[in-house]
Amino acid sequence: MAPVPFKSTAAEKGKDHYDLLVIGGGSGGLGAARRAAQYGAKVAIIEETWRLGGTCVNVGCVPKKVMWHAADLREKLHQANAYGYKVTEEQTAIDWPTLKGKRDKYIERLNGIYERNVDKDGVDYITGHARFVDRNTLSVSPTYPESKAHGGADVERKYTADRIVIAVGGTPTKPTNIEGAELGFDSDGFFDLKELPKRAVVVGAGYIAVELAGIFNALGAETHLLIRRDKILKAFDPMLQDTLQKHMEHSGVKVHTKTQITKITTEVEKPDLTVPFPKTVHVDSGEPIEADVVLFAIGRHSMTYDLGIDNVGVKLQKNGDVVVDEYQTTNVDNIFAIGDVGGVELLTPVAIAAGRRLSNRIYGGVKGDKLDYTNVPTVVFSHPTIGTVGLTEPQAREKYGDDQIKVYKATFTSLYYSMMDPEDKEPTAFKLIVQGPEEKVVGLHLIGVGSDEMLQGFAVAIKMGATFKDFADTVAIHPTSAEEIVTMR
Ligand code: FAD
Ligand code: NDP
Repeated sequence: MAPVPFKSTAAEKGKDHYDLLVIGGGSGGLGAARRAAQYGAKVAIIEETWRLGGTCVNVGCVPKKVMWHAADLREKLHQANAYGYKVTEEQTAIDWPTLKGKRDKYIERLNGIYERNVDKDGVDYITGHARFVDRNTLSVSPTYPESKAHGGADVERKYTADRIVIAVGGTPTKPTNIEGAELGFDSDGFFDLKELPKRAVVVGAGYIAVELAGIFNALGAETHLLIRRDKILKAFDPMLQDTLQKHMEHSGVKVHTKTQITKITTEVEKPDLTVPFPKTVHVDSGEPIEADVVLFAIGRHSMTYDLGIDNVGVKLQKNGDVVVDEYQTTNVDNIFAIGDVGGVELLTPVAIAAGRRLSNRIYGGVKGDKLDYTNVPTVVFSHPTIGTVGLTEPQAREKYGDDQIKVYKATFTSLYYSMMDPEDKEPTAFKLIVQGPEEKVVGLHLIGVGSDEMLQGFAVAIKMGATFKDFADTVAIHPTSAEEIVTMR
């Protein structure tokens, strides 16, 4: 799309006045700020840490995927024996400190790339913690000493703008009412760990709990997953929940259902959370569990609690998420919110897409541009991976009625496992949900090796309104697992 230049008059109103101020230098904030500047708007992005990139780059998708690859490789090293290689158990031990060092350096490099990109686009980068003074004014106060090294102010300063975007993301929710909860950490703490623990307890049933428990287990830690209900991944299709939970148990994760921690104790004085240390995890059902780390992954909440929201009257949900309309506009018409802070589809590409579309609409003359939140594809980096888009079977039946829904399924073992003993094989299960006489595809759910990479193309087809016939008319690629998606009957 050819950019339509935006005629900025912000500079005439002073050095510290902008067309757009963006609070938060994460996925969404960067997406909005850079796109607006590319159209010619005078833009500043305010980030309270010294690292651009937000959760995804620093303590989310990126370092998580590095760790997932490390875990996946260890599984493959074991599996290599089935293909005639001779890999001893000793050779599969991970050198965690070396990997962590390389991973941290990679993230630092990414931080630098983001800084250079905002600079290239002409976005001013301000470090410090932003709070609303009024609907056009933010105060920015110094935060970390590192901020100053990155050009951050050492005194509070005020900036004004015609429009302000809230893109402050979220932070892990801490457990309440658990004695000794401070002896555990969350996903942020996972990335600070200096060694692989021998025994890990992971609490939670969502994306993060499943992914990080899978990593600990595949890297060789005795891993306990504590869930308060009887199933993991409650928002996912039941086929995915059941297949993954069963396989996690099969591959060694001790899944404790309907179990909650009551107390954590340790004999260690002044423990350092970045290093595993022995502790006892008392639970409300069953024996206490001896562990070296406890990781809470019980959800996240928006960082709107110290934003001066009361000074502008932006409406929040009870849980702190910002209420926005379909154009990401809050109840205050020059203030917008994008990304995790809106509480819907907490995913990096969603935050980026919402931010870019907002700027396309306001500064690029793309009338009505907004993000369509339906059919957002997503992957869980579990072992094996999950890929899912559209409605789950219960959602489809609820929305359209049983007589409108047809379900196609395929369960099989990938050819990759053909050389392996039965107990070393991973399951593959696919489900295609179609609606109405036309058999329009309304849901696709995949679990099995390669599901993460398989989904994107099918998501395009589903977004375009593909039917079962369109899938069936597509010639299969053989021999692959993906071919089963177009050959289901
Ligand atoms: P963020 O990226 O969180 O950015 C918000 C920024 O605002 C932060 O840098 C913060 O420091 C800053 N900030 C907050 N308050 C202020 C303030 N008052 N003043 C100035 N700055 C402020 N998504 C995927 O799509 N794929 C994945 O594989 C994936 N894996 C994940 C793994 C983990 C462990 C976690 C925690 C998340 C993962 N996510 C993943 C989710 C993804 O990271 C988020 O959806 C995404 O980062 C949201 O972007 P955002 O811009 O809304 O917020
Ligand atoms: P989720 O919302 O996915 O899951 C949180 C889980 O915590 C829920 O399943 C809930 O399980 C459980 N829970 C809540 N309170 C408690 C409690 N007191 N005790 C025990 N369990 C509790 O949040 P996550 O933190 O895992 O992830 C946040 C978001 O980040 C995700 O929604 C996702 O959008 C994004 N993300 C995306 C990834 C990806 O794309 N691959 C990877 C990681 C994160 P229940 O209610 O069933 O008991």
